[in-house]
Amino acid sequence: MPEPDISFRDRPINMNEKGGRKWIYAKKPKGKWYRRRTVFSWFVLLFFIAVPFIRVNGHPFVLLDIASRKFILFGAIFWAQDTFILALLMLSFVLFIVLFTVTFGRLWCGWACPQTIFLEMVFRKIEYLIEGDFRKRYKLDSGPWTSEKVLKKVSKHAIFIAISIAMTNTFLLWFIGTEKWFILISEPIRDNFSGFIVMLIVSGFFYWVYSFFREQICTMVCPYGRMQGVLLDSKSIVVSYDYFRGEPRGGKTDGDCIDCRQCISVCPTGIDIRNGTQLECINCTACIDQCDIVMKNIGKDPGLIRFDSDHGIKHGHNSIWNARNRAYSVVLLVLFSFFIYTLLSRPDIETTILRTPGLLYQENADNTISNVYNIKIVNKTHENMPLEIHLISQEGLIKMAGSSMDVKDQAMFESMFILFISRDLLKSDNTEVEFGIYSNGELIETYKTSFVSP
Ligand code: SF4
Ligand code: SF4
Repeated sequence: MPEPDISFRDRPINMNEKGGRKWIYAKKPKGKWYRRRTVFSWFVLLFFIAVPFIRVNGHPFVLLDIASRKFILFGAIFWAQDTFILALLMLSFVLFIVLFTVTFGRLWCGWACPQTIFLEMVFRKIEYLIEGDFRKRYKLDSGPWTSEKVLKKVSKHAIFIAISIAMTNTFLLWFIGTEKWFILISEPIRDNFSGFIVMLIVSGFFYWVYSFFREQICTMVCPYGRMQGVLLDSKSIVVSYDYFRGEPRGGKTDGDCIDCRQCISVCPTGIDIRNGTQLECINCTACIDQCDIVMKNIGKDPGLIRFDSDHGIKHGHNSIWNARNRAYSVVLLVLFSFFIYTLLSRPDIETTILRTPGLLYQENADNTISNVYNIKIVNKTHENMPLEIHLISQEGLIKMAGSSMDVKDQAMFESMFILFISRDLLKSDNTEVEFGIYSNGELIETYKTSFVSP
């Protein structure tokens, strides 16, 4: 019996013996899974492009304003002070990814990851259109520089550069919002030269990734792909080759696999799925479609490669639910419920009052002691809030810098005030004081801090 070929374990498939890059010329996929994936990718692209333009009650639906440390997610505003709530959201998201991966493997990578969507559904389609399918592309690349080759390469790369710039600007919209973006592009470049250079660098990075680096992001860089080794188990449903049905392969035997290697020719990461689940498999389903075409041509049932688990292939039946993903689901439910509870119960404003650094106290002629405070109030609502501050723990007088404490919607108010307390009311050199923040006469938040005196 011949020894099985396990040379695929020696090095990544897109690497030659000398460690150099082996370019993958993937055949254009076709079939029902590819059609489904194409339609799904339109929705993902529409989501990516349209979301920054969606406004709810005049406010962005999503905005990741890192510079102002303000995040709007699905209409809810989060400030730096909401780190705990954001951490709960992030934890829930990570757990959801874990649960999803345990159950469906790397489905996210093939179907929803921006890297795959842009590479396979945008850049690769333009390449097919200009340079043709895999054989024509291979011939073009290995042939001499004719005028046709120059024309094709120049037009392809010009379009790639234009799309990379458009992608960068769309990403920018998620981070700065449409208003700032329109201002940026309508102003002369010299007024935002550093921003322009950053935009060019990011566009250049995208162009390099989608033109040259390509599938190596999924096979060598992305940490999520590596996590699969610990997340997948025999019941995870992934793109699988039915080795019971397919082997022994070769066409002249009982196995259904005729060893035509068509499943490898369509694979964007160049692997042979018959070697089992591999890190490089992004679950794009191109090999399912291709093998189904082969099966149809030789008069066999489709599904030699299909979505299934190792358990399903061995025992002929499958279940999405197992002890692991049930446990993850319970934890996710608890965590997400806690996130919703903290989100709904968080106050409309967030106040921070701290004694001004470097200043202690002042003894005044009217027998009072005064302390200077910095005050910061974040308005997390979509309404302007007229606010007032009063000392509620004892008698005292507040003198605020500036005349009003009107805080605009989703804005931050920062100021200073002086608190005067009569010397007779102070029992120690460090007294706890409590402030009340009122809006339209209603107490909406309290804040405790210290008052120092001789
Ligand atoms: S396409 Fe199907 S029949 Fe052909 S090599 Fe792959 S698994 Fe075997
Ligand atoms: S093995 Fe199949 S599903 Fe996995 S990346 Fe290759 S073509 Fe896509």
